[in-house]
Amino acid sequence: MGILPRIMLMAFLACSLTAGAQTTLDELGVPGVSRLLAMSRSAELKDIRYELNFQIPPSRVEQVTGYEAVRFHLDKLPSSGYLLLDFKGAAQGLSKLSVNGNEVKQLYKNEHIWIPREALQMGENSVAVHFTAGDGALNRNPDFLYTLLVPDRARTLFPCFDQPDLKAVFTLSLMIPTGWKAIANGGVHSMVTVGDSAMWQFWPSDRISTYLFSFAAGKFSETARVVDRRTMRFLYRETDSSKLRLSLDSVFRIEGQALAFMEQYTGILYPFRKFDFVAIPDFQFGGMEHAGAIQYQSRTLFLDSGATREQRIGRSNLLSHETAHMWFGDLVTMKWFNDVWMKEVFANYMANKISSVTLPDDNFDLKFLIGHYPAAFSIDRTAGTHPIQQQLDNLQEAGSLYGPIIYDKAPIMMRQLERLIGPKGFQAGLRDYLHEYAGGNADWDDLISKLQPYTKMKVHEWSKVWVKEAGRPRFSYRLSLAGGKISDLVVRQKGEDGSARVWPQVFDIALVYPDRVDQLTLNMNAAVVHVAAAAGKAKPQYVVFNSSGLGYGLFPVDRASLASTNQWALNGQPVARAAMYINLYENMLNGDVMTPVELLGYDLGALMRERKEELTFGLLLDQIGSIYWHFLSTQARSGMGPGLSETLWTMIDSVDAPNEKKLLFRAFTNMAGSRAAQDTLYQVWKTKQAPPGVRLTEDDYTGLATTLAVWDYPGYPKILSEQLGRIQNKDRRDRLQYLLPSLSDSAAVRDSFFMTFGSAEARRKEAWVLAALANLHHPARAGASEKYLPISLDWLADIQRTGDVFFPQSWLQASLGPYQTAEAAEVVRKFLRDHPDYNPKLRAKILQAADNLFRAEKLVAGEKPYQW
Ligand SMILES: [Zn+2]
Repeated sequence: MGILPRIMLMAFLACSLTAGAQTTLDELGVPGVSRLLAMSRSAELKDIRYELNFQIPPSRVEQVTGYEAVRFHLDKLPSSGYLLLDFKGAAQGLSKLSVNGNEVKQLYKNEHIWIPREALQMGENSVAVHFTAGDGALNRNPDFLYTLLVPDRARTLFPCFDQPDLKAVFTLSLMIPTGWKAIANGGVHSMVTVGDSAMWQFWPSDRISTYLFSFAAGKFSETARVVDRRTMRFLYRETDSSKLRLSLDSVFRIEGQALAFMEQYTGILYPFRKFDFVAIPDFQFGGMEHAGAIQYQSRTLFLDSGATREQRIGRSNLLSHETAHMWFGDLVTMKWFNDVWMKEVFANYMANKISSVTLPDDNFDLKFLIGHYPAAFSIDRTAGTHPIQQQLDNLQEAGSLYGPIIYDKAPIMMRQLERLIGPKGFQAGLRDYLHEYAGGNADWDDLISKLQPYTKMKVHEWSKVWVKEAGRPRFSYRLSLAGGKISDLVVRQKGEDGSARVWPQVFDIALVYPDRVDQLTLNMNAAVVHVAAAAGKAKPQYVVFNSSGLGYGLFPVDRASLASTNQWALNGQPVARAAMYINLYENMLNGDVMTPVELLGYDLGALMRERKEELTFGLLLDQIGSIYWHFLSTQARSGMGPGLSETLWTMIDSVDAPNEKKLLFRAFTNMAGSRAAQDTLYQVWKTKQAPPGVRLTEDDYTGLATTLAVWDYPGYPKILSEQLGRIQNKDRRDRLQYLLPSLSDSAAVRDSFFMTFGSAEARRKEAWVLAALANLHHPARAGASEKYLPISLDWLADIQRTGDVFFPQSWLQASLGPYQTAEAAEVVRKFLRDHPDYNPKLRAKILQAADNLFRAEKLVAGEKPYQW
């Protein structure tokens, strides 16, 4: 077939096409990957295979170059006149484009390589091209690098069809410095040393989406083990021998248990050829589920003997989450990223189930409640909340879909659904779904159609308000009595926004008596429900809503439950108590039931009662920290601070469990606003003598040194330099070294450090940037740093364009989170006023992050001092 060897300029192109086709082409060819482009390509293309070769020089200054051949089958020639190959790397690095063996003058525009229809043929085609990879998704460090391509960054690394429903086989080879190790989706085929480089050739991968393609290379240690007859290879850079000794067994054991659970639950054997993983220092996510080559945040996997229960749960959840993705996400993938929540909800949901195997002693309901509810509410209570399923017109905006609504609200919704369908039917529906779409793609409607046969309930109807609409219900109740008995208990719900919406759900209400607790299950499938089971029961001391932690919404608090004389009745009910603390906090934020000062006092009092429930203990300390920093005035803080510090410090002695001691020590550190508290921290740091029973790690000592620095503790530069000398691990030393300017007592040094974040290059190591922001915006520095806020908002759009998926949100949280003044709130309002046409998804993120700030204005205004 003949090729037209000529440069196709856009002017020529526009006039050579008919008007109708031109519109289509204009729509398809916009930057990013539009939904239209994705749809048109998935109708034309199949059987895609990439052969990829990357040359990775040892120095980060030299660019990574590559060569690829992509082969595919065309059922029909592109109706728009061009086949677009996505590429957002260095345009000038593109060369030697050939299509089906014929050289083609390349046309590169709007982040696509435009391949003319004339160069293509029906059936088998091949495109070959040389390119220079963009650095954005390569995460290059001095002696290691790793790719992270979700959601649409494969196209920054190499030319590809970057959409989740065009799965492909990847055959990779890497030229890397000798002495480095490498890991990829396929197993290692061969390794040949050539001078000071080595050519690593990998076996073809399984068929996977582009966002799941990955490799990591560098100076790593390696351990391989056989678990249940499966060999697993683990690469890491941790050097602390005690962490290694205490963690490697657990990591392999949990991986084995997670795989066994998933195989049993789904009825499908592990669907990929190999199972390897790599731990990455300061990884920007918790983990990423690249098939056969999972990446994990190193800090979460390697724990030492001082680890809290929360950290052990965190590790088990993370390993289980990514492993569950092998089925939910990797084997069956969403058609388009608007359904990215589907893979996340099942990864989290399965992780919760798996953790009841890996950590059998835990209270599953309590873990679920504390693990998901506060996080889901943190977004769903704000003006910036969004539905679980969101609209997505272009993949370049997919990053803005991520957040607690999909990670936390969606599992809560799914648990309701499982309860309504029943666990057996729910599991059977999921199995049908995985079997039907294995190796392919599916959307929410596909899943509903698989669950529907197992229930009489109309799943589609039921899920509308949960999945396609935002927000949460607000419940109220009326308890009527006659002759010392309940004559009627009526519960109402409406949208927190005042709408007359109904979130059909099942939850429990506890009727609490001095000698017992009666749990009533309420099927709240209407706006008003009379609880028939309550009628005729004796008058309770008080009622607790959502007492088993299944329901979702803003629940009322019975004031009688707050009397300390009434509380012992809930002693055997840890979930009901935790639900009550969460309800109280949510009500406080709305100015109901308790003021922030009162709730802080109440939570402090509740700590001793919860000393046997580490998770609840942590929940209370989180609430205390949050109230202290967000919802107390500066005066109240300095008034309460010393007494609070003293209380926390004394409590370290009076609790027994080392983990609770540690949580108290952390809370003490977090709120060490007084010089006396800082003196105490300094002594701990200097002498390396933690309070009896508290185990502090190297990271904890680094944390102490940086805390002292942000408070301008006398002699802090010496503290920091001594701490640098104490750190053994190179990655952790580099991190502290990087953070030094953010800790400076010179505002000018901090200002110029902050201003560097205007460039995407300086923001590359996101975990470090966030740590720096925490120092720069620390409340101790707030006066001098408030001026960063308008700039931080100005940069947001660029941050979204260049950063990884969680970064825009974490950037906003780290920037706006620490402030509580009316001036800071006005900065946000002004920005929103000045940008009426701002990207709605980013606008929502701003409203989410500014929620505490807006509430603080009101809550602090009505403050009354605390009586010790
Ligand atoms: Zn995930």
